[in-house]
Amino acid sequence: MVQTRQTREPITGKLCLVSGPMIGASGMLGVSMGEMLRVGKLGLIGEVIRINGDTVYAQVFEDTGGMMLGEPVTSLGYPLSVELGPGLLGGVFDGIQRPLEVLRGMSGDFIARGLTAPALDRAKKWALTPTVTAGQKVVGGDVLGTVQETRAFMHRVLVPPNVSGVVKSVVDAGEYTVEQTIVVLEDGTELAMMQRWPVKRPRPVVRKLPANQPFITGQRVLDCIFPVALGGSAVVPGGFGTGKTVVEQTLSKYCNADIIVYVGCGERGNEMADVLDEFPALTDPKTGDSLMNRTILVVNTSNMPVAAREASVYSGITLAEYYRDQGFSVAIMADSSSRWAEALREISSRLEEMPGEEGYPTYLSARIAEFYERTGRAEVLGTVAEGDEPRQGSMTLVAAVSPAGGDFSEPVTQTSLRVAGGFWGLDASLAYRRHYPAINWSVSYTLYLETLKPWFRDNAPKGWLENRQRAMELLQRDAEMQEIVQLVGPDALQDAERLILETGKMVREVFLQQNAFSENDAFSSLEKTGGLLETLLEFYDLSKNAIENGVTLNRLMGLPVREDIARLRNESNADFAEKRATVCARMRADVTAAATKKG
Ligand code: ADP
Ligand code: MG
Repeated sequence: MVQTRQTREPITGKLCLVSGPMIGASGMLGVSMGEMLRVGKLGLIGEVIRINGDTVYAQVFEDTGGMMLGEPVTSLGYPLSVELGPGLLGGVFDGIQRPLEVLRGMSGDFIARGLTAPALDRAKKWALTPTVTAGQKVVGGDVLGTVQETRAFMHRVLVPPNVSGVVKSVVDAGEYTVEQTIVVLEDGTELAMMQRWPVKRPRPVVRKLPANQPFITGQRVLDCIFPVALGGSAVVPGGFGTGKTVVEQTLSKYCNADIIVYVGCGERGNEMADVLDEFPALTDPKTGDSLMNRTILVVNTSNMPVAAREASVYSGITLAEYYRDQGFSVAIMADSSSRWAEALREISSRLEEMPGEEGYPTYLSARIAEFYERTGRAEVLGTVAEGDEPRQGSMTLVAAVSPAGGDFSEPVTQTSLRVAGGFWGLDASLAYRRHYPAINWSVSYTLYLETLKPWFRDNAPKGWLENRQRAMELLQRDAEMQEIVQLVGPDALQDAERLILETGKMVREVFLQQNAFSENDAFSSLEKTGGLLETLLEFYDLSKNAIENGVTLNRLMGLPVREDIARLRNESNADFAEKRATVCARMRADVTAAATKKG
């Protein structure tokens, strides 16, 4: 037996209360908070959330319907944990890490209650290349060996965080199951490829690192206007149909993370079924393989009760931490985190706790803050060989929030924005006008800009930050001009002011808008993003100058090159620079020609 997780013999008591997803059991003296339970004859999985004398209260992750008082309840002696090891990538799990495909094979589409199967396949053999030798001292985080987990991904088998010692023996390179012992330490500790970790306890790191590298998304409005750091967090609030799921899926596909953990707590009944159908069909633009090869899906099926949502966000972040600890960048997509908050609210009300704002528990903000706190870029555990750089990993969180009616003043949005570094607010009126992504540039913000500036200065196209600033100012003035037009009509504006309106429109339509479903536009490289903006600003400068020299706005707006500029958005990243050079040359010639003709 490898790494026993038993901390105590199981304790069995009797079911004394059933209240929706919450149960009570008596005769449970000795059980601790957070322990996992098997509830009733079906053995449903639950987690202890309150203890009162010999009675424990637990949230149950499966439907408790039909349970009878007096049925046995067993506390297993260990907290809710996940299995970590090769075989997670491509996996589809529920909140308590049951492999949904396997369960479906056992009981069909409607998963029978109490059914379990191990998360990691026990029979599958993985080709391991050990990287330690007998006599070597190892500490938590050290790489024991490597396994080709998917075609493009090399998994690093790690010493668990709390283990250290001297290697007594190590197996030869060869094929092993996740449970087989691959290393024995001098003190007799046996290590396998698989380890377990309690989901509510953050996996330790050596130290957090500054947020000075960008989380690149390929989305112009995000990369240029509201960039978030690798290891940072962004909250994406938006009403129904404003594009939260499209944002999460587009980022899953194009962001610069090595690994994606997608946590789905569906809005609509069939939404998770859509995720399960659509995700495997997405291709990874980096490898051409299925996106699933670097993705783990944690989803709540519609027949799972609210408590499972809480388990899924914690399971998801723990899986993400495990890949971070291997030294990779991981993005965790939570869609939607409001469903988790609602689960907290429901359980809290069943426990008859004092409600806070809008019925959410008073500890909502603490829970959300602790969760966001687990993200970051970090120096991860492990021995650093002389002359080597310490291994680094990161975990970036993009959390969708679904405020009722798109009202951002509600508690979940407000609490999330207090702890997230990026706020990408989705706007129903933009979505209605089919301005996608419907990110409202006047309410959205990023707190990472200052720490990211040096990176952009060194790595982004020239003028990136200055152009960003100019675009923001232009959009601001565009909004002011629009207000004036609404009050007193367009005639009140001079040509120079109307030029701001016209250019503002171009910035919105050509630069900020981006079609997630267009092959050439879905991902905009930094070169394309920077080049598009530079072109629009140059058009503005040339036109402004021409107007000062007596050219009318109408004449400038009638120039056919404006169409060419708009079409640049649909050029591929590869062709962009060349096409842009042609368009810019024409733009300069045409505006100059207009200026010489005047009128
Ligand atoms: P939500 O998750 O907020 O309810 P969705 O992400 O499902 O909303 O988006 C609703 C619809 O909006 C999508 O089906 C799609 O038609 C459209 N949409 C959203 N974002 C984009 C985008 N970036 N490009 C094109 N269409 C989009
Ligand atoms: Mg959605």
